[in-house]
Amino acid sequence: MIPMLDMVVFPGYNSRHCPLAFFAWKGKNDGAVSDFYSTPEAHMTNVNTPKCGCCFIISLDVLRALAQGQKIETADRATYQRAYATTQKLRLVREGHRLASLAGQQSGLALRATAVAKQPVEHVFDCKHGTTLPGTPVPDPTEPAFKTVFDTTAKVAEFYKTVLGRNSVDNQGMDLVSSLNYDQDYQNAFWDGQQMVYGNGDNKVFIDFWRSPDVIGHELTHGVTQHESGLIYEGQSGALNESISDCFGAVFAQWLADKPASDASGWLIGAGIMGPAAKAKGFTCLRDMVNPSAAHCLSRQPASYNDLDPTADVHENSGIANRAFAVFAQNLGGNSYDVAIKVWYDACVSGLSSRTTFVDFAQATITAAGKRGPTVAKAATDAWRTVDLSVEPPHSALAA
Ligand SMILES: [Zn+2]
Repeated sequence: MIPMLDMVVFPGYNSRHCPLAFFAWKGKNDGAVSDFYSTPEAHMTNVNTPKCGCCFIISLDVLRALAQGQKIETADRATYQRAYATTQKLRLVREGHRLASLAGQQSGLALRATAVAKQPVEHVFDCKHGTTLPGTPVPDPTEPAFKTVFDTTAKVAEFYKTVLGRNSVDNQGMDLVSSLNYDQDYQNAFWDGQQMVYGNGDNKVFIDFWRSPDVIGHELTHGVTQHESGLIYEGQSGALNESISDCFGAVFAQWLADKPASDASGWLIGAGIMGPAAKAKGFTCLRDMVNPSAAHCLSRQPASYNDLDPTADVHENSGIANRAFAVFAQNLGGNSYDVAIKVWYDACVSGLSSRTTFVDFAQATITAAGKRGPTVAKAATDAWRTVDLSVEPPHSALAA
């Protein structure tokens, strides 16, 4: 249930990014968020709170480890310290947009917008290594970097439309905005609630963040989640938020390259952004959905629900749900984008609450799978049991 809202405009906030403006929850139904956002001052200054939203491809834990010289000694610590601090601050912006999206649903804006649904239009900008968004317009993106982002983003929209039957990020034809060359050697890519932003990396650990199509699909899917369940970016719901972005990002990349589910390379997240220093250490990706705890992952994750750490970063526990999806898709065989991702999408748009747990989500996917027949339902049930999550088969499968 979405609580009643009391709008409070935050001073200094750029309204271009959010026509609904920042606001504070005044309702009683979401204590954690209500407590934190009770004043603009708390919102703008408490950058250490774990209650903030975030939508980056690289977790704070990995940035912290690199800043401390762990994992890869050659990493420029100052660069990573700066990336860590910037990432912390930007988490706040994302949470404001998540709440604004839910408010839009509550107020009926979404329903009215459906009546005038349009096709998404793309806009590309160049930050020229500054931090002002969106940056300078690039009306004719012919340079390789801008053209790649423009073309890949258009493909994400095509993937949403043809595979999922969805009209852009918000399902109402929202324009897709991308900004490149953000900051100096910025070690991340993110969705800020309204647009995509890409850093260039340090060319040691990471290279340009737009070079991995799964990263582009991952970040835009944070926008989809923002406009559907609004999964809160902490605890199990936060890990599911991350996992959903990995699942759709990976399957988008598989669809783009025409790879079957059996191809192990299609389950690597961030393989295309690893720099020479990372590769020299044997890191071939950020995350591996089939083998989340493998040594070749720069950001290793648990592979079993038994190993879920309730205090861990959302990018860690997401490995459990990632593996469940990869096992499900591989058990079905063929292409992940033929059936498996459609089952996950059906679950994502089935009315999940913003506090959905792993068990809730698993049951939602099994219910969605059951509507596609007993074989699909069994594959989904078996997949969750493979990661040691106790689930029940759908009633339709029991009957069969
Ligand atoms: Zn993410």
